[in-house]
Order: sequence, then structure tokens, then C-alpha cells
Amino acid sequence: MRFIDIGINLTDNMFRGKYRGKRLHQDDFDLILERAQRAGVEKMIITGTDLVESRKAAAMTDKKEHAGFLYSTVGCHPTRCGEFKKYKHGPQAYLDALRAVIKKSPNVVAIGECGLDYDRLHFCDTQTQKEYFAAQFALAKETQLPMFLHDRNTGDDFYNMVKHHRNDFTHGVVHSFTGSMEQMERLLELGLYIGINGCSLKTAANLEVVKAIPQDRIMIETGKLFQSPKEMSNLLLSSCA
Ligand SMILES: [Zn+2]
Repeated sequence: MRFIDIGINLTDNMFRGKYRGKRLHQDDFDLILERAQRAGVEKMIITGTDLVESRKAAAMTDKKEHAGFLYSTVGCHPTRCGEFKKYKHGPQAYLDALRAVIKKSPNVVAIGECGLDYDRLHFCDTQTQKEYFAAQFALAKETQLPMFLHDRNTGDDFYNMVKHHRNDFTHGVVHSFTGSMEQMERLLELGLYIGINGCSLKTAANLEVVKAIPQDRIMIETGKLFQSPKEMSNLLLSSCA
């Protein structure tokens, strides 16, 4: 079996043995990559979650020893979209800085993650999220890179924005999908891919949705370590055998 992990938060310190500032084990980063390769993972795409993390992710992929294995996305997560306005030279400069990361690294393969998240509005309000989600469609249009999309509890807002901008981007995946059967089908109609991780497998209803995703439209991702690897491996064995 050969896999591409489309979303791994490898810049997170937990992949270095530190969890919320506490060291719980030795840095075993290289061993993680080795184990993944032994298990059939051919490529990994590190998720860029804001400007700083996108820079870190791109720098990681540009190391010689990771050539042909690590790739990254560049973008700003909806809960962090407040960073656009707070940036020292304003929102346009923030967008320009994201663009500069894309231009500098040949290993950036998608725009994101970006989207909407109404579960965590205490980090960023809906208006700000929408404004800078729209800005990132412009980045996708300009670079012709596919989009790595995030949607949490947004009613029809996420769908409507993606539909409105559908001609602005080539391909896209809605990652960590936890929506209903109907929501999944509507995204497929827009020509999008569905990304699944441990979060997508928590309930019986989730499993029914995942089973119904066509094999040529499903993508897999690790995310962070709190997403149970056991759930992931069970799914891989059952769906890819
Ligand atoms: Zn996400």
C-alpha cells in the first residue's frame, strides 16, 4: 500500500516530545518519519496554519534530507484570521508575506488551511473569518494551487462561499470532515475531495458518511496526535485493502 498523508501538523512540538510545554518523551521526529515510510507513506503534506507556521513548514520541507518526501501548505486557519489585521503593515502585507513563502519554496503544494470555524468564535469573529477566507481564494486563483479547506459548524456559510468562489481555484479538499451525508454529497457535486482523520471517525453516523465517500474522492490525514492513530489504522486497513 502507498499513501500520501495530506495533512500532518509536523511543526507542532508534540512531534518533538513536548506536549503543552511539557517534555513527555525524547525528540523522536526522525523515527516518526522513518516509521511512516516503512508503513507505506510516500509523501507528507505539512499543514501551514498561519504565517509563522507556514514559514516553519516550508523551511522543514526545504531541508535536503526531506526532499521528495515532505511538502507543505501555506495559509491562515480561520481561528487565526485576526492576524491579518494585527500584522505590522496591515492585511495586504500579511497576504504578501504568505505569497512570498509560496514563491520561495518549491515544495508548497496547496493554499490553506483556510475556511470557516464557528465552533471557536472566541478566537476570531465570523466577519473577520469570511473576509480573510475570501482573500485566500484570491491567492489560490493567482498561484493556481489547490486548496486545503477547513469547515466547522458553519451552517451553509462555508458551502456558499466555496460555491461562490468555485471558479477561482482548481482543486480542493475539505479536510477533517465531520459533516452529514448531505453535506458530503454537496461538496462532491462541487468537485471537491473529502479529507478524513481520527475526528471523522468518532460516531456511527460519521462512519456511515466515510463509507459512502467514493474511493477516488477520499484523502487521508494524520492531523495532530490527539487524533487516535488506532482509529486511523483500522480505517486504512478496511478501506485500502
Ligand atoms: Zn482544520
